[in-house]
Amino acid sequence: MSSIKYQVSLHAPQTHLFEIQCTITHPAPNGQVFSLPAWIPGSYLVRDFARHIVSISATASGKVIALTKLDKNTWQSAPCSGALILSYQVYAYDLSVRTAYLDHQRAYFNGTSLFMRIADQDHLACEVSIEAPAKSFKHWQVATTMPAIKVNKSGYGSYRAANYAELIDFPVEIGELTIGEFKAGGVPHRIVISGKHQADIKRITSDLKTLCDYHIRFFGKAPFKRYDFLLYAAADNQYGGLEHSNSTSLICPRSWLPVKNETVDESCYQDFLGLCSHEYFHAWHVKRIRPQVFADPDLGREAYTRLLWVFEGFTAYYDTLALVRSGLMSQEEYLKSLSKDITRFLRTPGRKIQALNESSFDTWIKLYKPDENTPNAQISYYLKGSLVALAIDLTLRLKGRALDEIMHSLWKRYSQDKQLVEEHEIQSLIQQVTGQNLSKLFKQCVHGTEDPPLKNLFSKFGITFEPDKADINVLRESLGLLLANESETRISNVFSGGAAERSGLAAGDVLLALDNLKLTAKSLKDIVKKKMEGSKFLIHFFRRDELITCELVKETKALESCDLKIKADAKPETIALREAWFKGS
Ligand SMILES: [Zn+2]
Repeated sequence: MSSIKYQVSLHAPQTHLFEIQCTITHPAPNGQVFSLPAWIPGSYLVRDFARHIVSISATASGKVIALTKLDKNTWQSAPCSGALILSYQVYAYDLSVRTAYLDHQRAYFNGTSLFMRIADQDHLACEVSIEAPAKSFKHWQVATTMPAIKVNKSGYGSYRAANYAELIDFPVEIGELTIGEFKAGGVPHRIVISGKHQADIKRITSDLKTLCDYHIRFFGKAPFKRYDFLLYAAADNQYGGLEHSNSTSLICPRSWLPVKNETVDESCYQDFLGLCSHEYFHAWHVKRIRPQVFADPDLGREAYTRLLWVFEGFTAYYDTLALVRSGLMSQEEYLKSLSKDITRFLRTPGRKIQALNESSFDTWIKLYKPDENTPNAQISYYLKGSLVALAIDLTLRLKGRALDEIMHSLWKRYSQDKQLVEEHEIQSLIQQVTGQNLSKLFKQCVHGTEDPPLKNLFSKFGITFEPDKADINVLRESLGLLLANESETRISNVFSGGAAERSGLAAGDVLLALDNLKLTAKSLKDIVKKKMEGSKFLIHFFRRDELITCELVKETKALESCDLKIKADAKPETIALREAWFKGS
């Protein structure tokens, strides 16, 4: 059977242009239709990758073939005889793990950015040939889990994917790479780091092995023959990950990575391990076990599901829990991290507005398109989803069952006959597997906007849930606003029902003076702290270029927060429950 051939050339990194040649041996007789996806699986935003196509042309048997654009992402060639060759340039200068990047430092791409999908031929095998760039890049190497057909020692040469869906599931990293190798569950794994860094690869490799061994034991078997963590070590404000079936693309601050003979910020390093854990868990949960609507989604349009709270929320729950269970994080550190999440949740007024399943359904227009009103109107299905997963787990554990059983059952169904998850199935699956009816919890917390009953649940596990007295934000509490940063007086958020909203202030306003004296971020905080409750301030501010005044009143509304602590003097049976949860037994 013939295959679709793609040739990738990166000979001019300074232009940030990938040159692609795509050969279709048997184009459709009436003209071949082809397109680039609008979105990439795992990231639910229409990105219209075709916007980065700079120029495109086609030939067949040496003759130019006319191309007609059918819609924003789709073209059609004129009928031709012989193989059709498409030649196009893709602009790639976005650090995101969802797109593509090319400069003198590195090349990175996802197939969704570079490879045209050939209509009615996407079942065909795809061959990708990656050409070596100029000699000055002789230290560059290619890293991908796409199966190689014939490559040189740097990894340049040809690769093969079974079909288009697989082709776009193999991100490719090219550059000066630091590679750590290990085996987990008997399967070869690599951590591949690009970007400027001094990371202690030995420690990272060893910790990832511990983590991967844990996840493989949890599910029983690795679902892949090899796995790569492709990490770009970046500046402090960069963070992200995208799951794939046999690899993951990650980006995180290089300052999070341990460096030999330097003090390690363990909490940041645990965030890095948590990111790895999250994407790795996805290799089972969302890449294989997945919503029915993701079986073979049309990447030209949105694929709607109310189940992302199960796929992202459960994954977010297990990502950090796996660190405790595998010994990479202490129980106290875990409770601290959980306390932070619960506090963030309790301080999101939008949790009372948007139901969890709606957050999933509307991700295309809401979660992935946040704005200044997001905290007032939305709740993240990652955050609430992970807390509902926790509530489900603790509820089941009180009855001698566990959420782990649901994961094992989902995996068993998938590995036996590739069974995916129907939209309304999770609640009944829990009942079927554990005999527990959680309809009340689902009605209140999944279909509704109530908070999961964590305080009550934790009390039964010998864990106290108290307010965090140290975590006070005076501007948020007393004025109902947040500033963009420590050095500016620009308002980033105004919270529903707060003093700032009542006074007429809005996100984007720049505060200038309080009671006719110039303001700084620090002086505003100091003054508000000192003044009595009910004090009135005359505020001068700019909205766009208009100078406006208003009266702002100090009206403190205590913010909710959470500080979880292990109760040392709990009863032995309570301690046993708690330990079983921490240990996953
Ligand atoms: Zn995820």
